[in-house]
Amino acid sequence: MTKKFRGYQCSLCGKKYGPEEVTYVCPDDGGNLNVLLDYEGIKKAYTIEDITSSRDTSIWRYLPLLPMEDPGCEGTPLRAVGWTPTYAPPAMRKDLGMKQLWVKDEGRQATASFKDRASAVVVARAREIGAEVVVTASTGNAGAALAGMAAAVGQKDVIFAPKTAPPAKVAQLLVFGAQVMLVDGTYDNAFDLTIEASNRFGWYCRNTGYNPFTAEGKKTAAFEIWEQVLLAEELDKPLCVFVSVGDGNIISGIHKGFKDLQELGWLKQMPRIFGVQSEGSAAIANAYLAGTEEIIPVSATTLADSISVDLPRDGVRAVRAATETNGAYILVSDDEIIKAIAALGKVGIFAEPAGSTSYAGLVKALETGQITGDDPVLLINTGSGLKDVKSAMKSVEEAPVIKPAMDALQAFLNQ
Ligand SMILES: *Cc1c(COP(=O)(O)O)cnc(C)c1O
Ligand SMILES: [Zn+2]
Repeated sequence: MTKKFRGYQCSLCGKKYGPEEVTYVCPDDGGNLNVLLDYEGIKKAYTIEDITSSRDTSIWRYLPLLPMEDPGCEGTPLRAVGWTPTYAPPAMRKDLGMKQLWVKDEGRQATASFKDRASAVVVARAREIGAEVVVTASTGNAGAALAGMAAAVGQKDVIFAPKTAPPAKVAQLLVFGAQVMLVDGTYDNAFDLTIEASNRFGWYCRNTGYNPFTAEGKKTAAFEIWEQVLLAEELDKPLCVFVSVGDGNIISGIHKGFKDLQELGWLKQMPRIFGVQSEGSAAIANAYLAGTEEIIPVSATTLADSISVDLPRDGVRAVRAATETNGAYILVSDDEIIKAIAALGKVGIFAEPAGSTSYAGLVKALETGQITGDDPVLLINTGSGLKDVKSAMKSVEEAPVIKPAMDALQAFLNQ
């Protein structure tokens, strides 16, 4: 077992567990487990330059900060996850009246969503513990990412998704050769069934907000923001990171990444983390706005399928990501989410609804004065627009159909 991996600590009761003692959540209270690393040992063995001088342009450049050994698998998509581009679109900055604005595009991942970070790390972990089958519940992207990473390395996998998942995501699952079960119910129903199946058949469960390794994968986005923005740019004020929230595992993972860097003494200033939820799926924002960590389930209705969650599985840590960093939660409507797809499209970034949600949140935060044009902001687009073409078409006017003749074109242009 890797020495840098020290075990787990429950986010609710604080109890610590050894690396072999538990697998998923706290046996006492079901709390999400934080992975503990040997920060002193890492600090002694590595400098910032050891990380930043790496020529590996994937999440594996951060191997010294991950609770595992090198997974190998060279030459496969598993080695290509991460190091997504971070743009600074001048037109968008001008449009919003901002001094500094970046967009990190996770649509550029191997299977086109942020979820690759988690799935790559969980599949690496599965190989380390010799798991025969990996299983997950998914609204689509987590499954596509697991199916893609599993296919990359020849790992068996089973995916449970709601039968309402967008066709492009279901196509990915099938093409990657996963055993796919479409559940006649919600994501939450699929989630519970997955855990039962995992217990019954001994499958290794990747479920978001259940398997502690997903957040370890997702934290690599924070490391990239650190390298691509915090170390590279002059900032007068703390960076404000905007990210959409469903189960709350991405936002928790990003918070964990920044906390890891802080533990190592490698972070000058903790960024402020802003979670954005749809009004139609707002369980975590509701708790934050009520000033509590108690997550009360909702009946989710948003068209942003990737963040449509009744009972968020990583809600407590997700609330803390905002409260502990002087961030906030912001609510936006589905209408605003659709408009945001067009706004990102205008600067060449194609987002699915859950991806454009962060932009909608920024617009709202500027309107309400929660942040100003002086605050440096980084938006995360968590998934590609190709994942959900139906929603993309809602954000634009339909194209005209004309006869293939010059007079028809001329007539149309004269209108
Ligand atoms: C999963 C997902 C999210 C939300 O992540 P959580 O960990 O569930 O909060 C946001 N956007 C996209 C595209 C996703 O696939
Ligand atoms: Zn506990």
